[in-house]
Amino acid sequence: RRRALAAEATGPGRTLDGVPVALLLNAGEADPGRSAEHDGEGIGLFRTEFLFLDRDEPPSVAEQTAVYTRLFRAFSGRTVTVRTLDAGSDKPLGFVATGEEANPALGVRGFRTSRVHPHLLVDQLTAIASAVREVDKDEETARIRVMAPMVSTPAEAGEFVELARAAGIGEVGVMVEVPGAALAAERLLSRVDFVSIGTNDLAQYTMAVDRTLDTLPELLDPWQPALLELVAKVGGAGERLGRPVGVCGEAASDPLLALVLVGVGVTGLSMAPPALPVVRYALSRHTFAECRRLAELALAAESPERAREAVREVVRPEV
Ligand code: PEP
Ligand code: MG
Repeated sequence: RRRALAAEATGPGRTLDGVPVALLLNAGEADPGRSAEHDGEGIGLFRTEFLFLDRDEPPSVAEQTAVYTRLFRAFSGRTVTVRTLDAGSDKPLGFVATGEEANPALGVRGFRTSRVHPHLLVDQLTAIASAVREVDKDEETARIRVMAPMVSTPAEAGEFVELARAAGIGEVGVMVEVPGAALAAERLLSRVDFVSIGTNDLAQYTMAVDRTLDTLPELLDPWQPALLELVAKVGGAGERLGRPVGVCGEAASDPLLALVLVGVGVTGLSMAPPALPVVRYALSRHTFAECRRLAELALAAESPERAREAVREVVRPEV
């Protein structure tokens, strides 16, 4: 019944009282066609690692430009958020040598790899900017944004913004995946156009549990009140500065948790395509004030189970 109701909900994401919440897709493959068929408002996380995997050499600027151009064309009239290469740790790449590391998850990964291999990021930004210029000639273009993964400080955010603007890219953001970045949310946000919270990594670093382990699931649970506290810190900063705050980790695809996220100030949710209808439906059945109330309940709980129960007790039964 829930699926049937969800299938009826279409159009842009909105709460029951009309507060907009951008509903976007996570994608990451050469063929943009499959994700373009879904009726999300665009892509909130385009993972570019597939371009770099299983190779001895990084892809050329021309090869990357062709892929991005095809992607942007497939999403004309919608938003596309391209994440720059997130190499290292759980996404190791042969040609991105970062030296011997005892703890790769705490090492040179994500945006940090640009310290060792600056040309990789510069080439990628050049390719994205060329693709933007290419589709700018079309009648209707996509709204293109770029963001860097694993940014830890406002200074790093500032560095990325400078590089992206130098390449000619207009809308620039960073991912919040490190507790330190979340704690510095206001200063971080003042440097960028938007942020997107990666709850998969943020959970790993907040609770000190390797995200690839399956032996400590309750610690990695995205309902952990401590994790939600950090998300709320970023959401609050976004509200004060009037800047968009997205969530693109798995947390965004849980319809009940999505309500909580909106309640702490998250303005966009990016998820795997199958989750979109149920999240859209859950939002359409609750007012913004109700989401605020649900967020208070979740934040006040002492465990993820309690947080879930407290929220489930008061949401509308069909959600
Ligand atoms: C995350 O960490 O939540 C995220 C969205 O990025 P990835 O899963 O690709 O690390
Ligand atoms: Mg991540």
